[in-house]
Amino acid sequence: MTDATAVTDRDALLAVDIQNDFCPGGRLAVPRGDEVVPIVNRIAAKFANVVLTQDWHPPGHLSFASSHPGKRPYETIDVAYGPQVLWPDHCIQGTSGAEFRADLQIPHAVLVVRKGFRRTIDSYSAFYENDRVTPTGLAGYLRERGLTRVLLAGLAFDFCVRYSAEDAHREGFTAIVIEDACRGIDVDGSMAATRRQLASLGIRCIEAKDIV
Ligand SMILES: [Zn+2]
Repeated sequence: MTDATAVTDRDALLAVDIQNDFCPGGRLAVPRGDEVVPIVNRIAAKFANVVLTQDWHPPGHLSFASSHPGKRPYETIDVAYGPQVLWPDHCIQGTSGAEFRADLQIPHAVLVVRKGFRRTIDSYSAFYENDRVTPTGLAGYLRERGLTRVLLAGLAFDFCVRYSAEDAHREGFTAIVIEDACRGIDVDGSMAATRRQLASLGIRCIEAKDIV
């Protein structure tokens, strides 16, 4: 049996954080992150509804290791809402690192969701910040537009794509991850943990070629 997935007008493609800082040469580069760009460009042409997310931090953001004296990137600390991985400074509002990749060509995208803009809360998910209660407004937008299924691609598979997929599912949307249109970071086994978690929720992972 094939995983063929036919795109309809009730689908949204969520293209997650395809920004300079998450690609090679950027400040929080996802290995081979740039490889998703042509794949996502190709897929996006099949969707009437494409939503882009953009990590968008103020300087001194809580998720930056540099905001915590003595801490290094990729360490985990406890903050008010639970554990938080610390990252190199990245995607600072208004900087070139926060811009979308210049070769990301989706002029018909209908919405850009900026996230992580509150200094004291990180936001991996496109739906909820990391406290799991502060919404970004995306669920309401999709519902109001009558969109029922969210297909996800982008960076990074094991963080922002993962949490966006989980929250889409939690919000009652059908979530599908286009795995070869994602690249991951893999901190402490986070790739394997992501695959297990998606499978346990019944969130399908497909390949770009399955989209028809
Ligand atoms: Zn970030």
